[in-house]
Amino acid sequence: MAATVLDGAAVAREIYAQLKERVAALGRLNVRPGLAAVQLGDNPVSRIYVRNKVRACNEVGVYSEVHSLAADCPQSVLLATLEKLNRNPRVHGILVQLPLPAHLDAGLIAKVIAPEKDVDGLTWHNLGTLVAGHPQFEPCTPSGVITLLERAGIPIDGREAVVVGRSAIVGKPMALMLMARGATVTVCHSRTPDLGQHTRRADILVVAVGRPRLITADRVKPGAAVIDVGVNRVAGRGITGDVDFTAVQNVAGWITPVPGGVGPMTVAMVIANTVQAAERSAAARAV
Ligand code: NDP
Repeated sequence: MAATVLDGAAVAREIYAQLKERVAALGRLNVRPGLAAVQLGDNPVSRIYVRNKVRACNEVGVYSEVHSLAADCPQSVLLATLEKLNRNPRVHGILVQLPLPAHLDAGLIAKVIAPEKDVDGLTWHNLGTLVAGHPQFEPCTPSGVITLLERAGIPIDGREAVVVGRSAIVGKPMALMLMARGATVTVCHSRTPDLGQHTRRADILVVAVGRPRLITADRVKPGAAVIDVGVNRVAGRGITGDVDFTAVQNVAGWITPVPGGVGPMTVAMVIANTVQAAERSAAARAV
């Protein structure tokens, strides 16, 4: 039987409907959540990601502003922009669209954004709170994956999970978040010999690599939930994930499409975290 397709775009729409109610409640307190996106250079893919986030803000009633800096902008200019946004009371959430140009130090940026405005959950402070088991904001892509699993009623507690990819923005936080919810987690990467030996054990398989068709049907346990984070641009085929969707959907129990799976959920989690940041700020003011 073909796998159930997990429709991230549909779940994101449900989340937006719920967020609109929370934004309306904040409006009654004269608070409008605000998101500032900082983009560097004219990478067309980054521009699409930022545009999608602005569009989602508009849909939910969140204020947004975009700061476009030159690709060769000095680190001092980026840091000054972030420090100004940290102090701006209209802005509850700040995100810097990745990847950064090579001359900029991503580590420094991860320390400069105020943790209470770090709606991407990627500052070292917030990653530290995740490791400690008290996350302030969970990173958006793994958070989108967890939300998709939970809304589909896919059990995590006690299950075997395999994450392919160990980046600080997806793979590592994904593993921590699955572990926090009771999964037994294996993390695979480019140095893992015999990837299939691990992936075939997974009840939940999350793939975040950036290689089309890395996960073939013979690398998937029958009935598994297969979550494809990968985004690859393949000439003549548009956007594709890391999973051979056509073959794997005949083996898996659940599968995410690319596009339309994890991507829209990532955007929804950025907006949800921004609304949450505004709620926390309003609550702190009320005390
Ligand atoms: P990175 O390039 O930072 O990390 C890729 C990971 O894949 C690394 O850990 C690397 O291992 C591992 N890897 C590379 N080749 C193999 C292989 N043959 N077998 C097993 N593991 C391998 O990428 P990101 O984590 O930033 O992103 C991963 C993918 O997810 C990309 O396609 C990206 O575009 C997409 N993405 C999608 C998002 C969405 O919202 N849908 C959001 C963020 C990312 P090693 O560490 O050893 O080098």
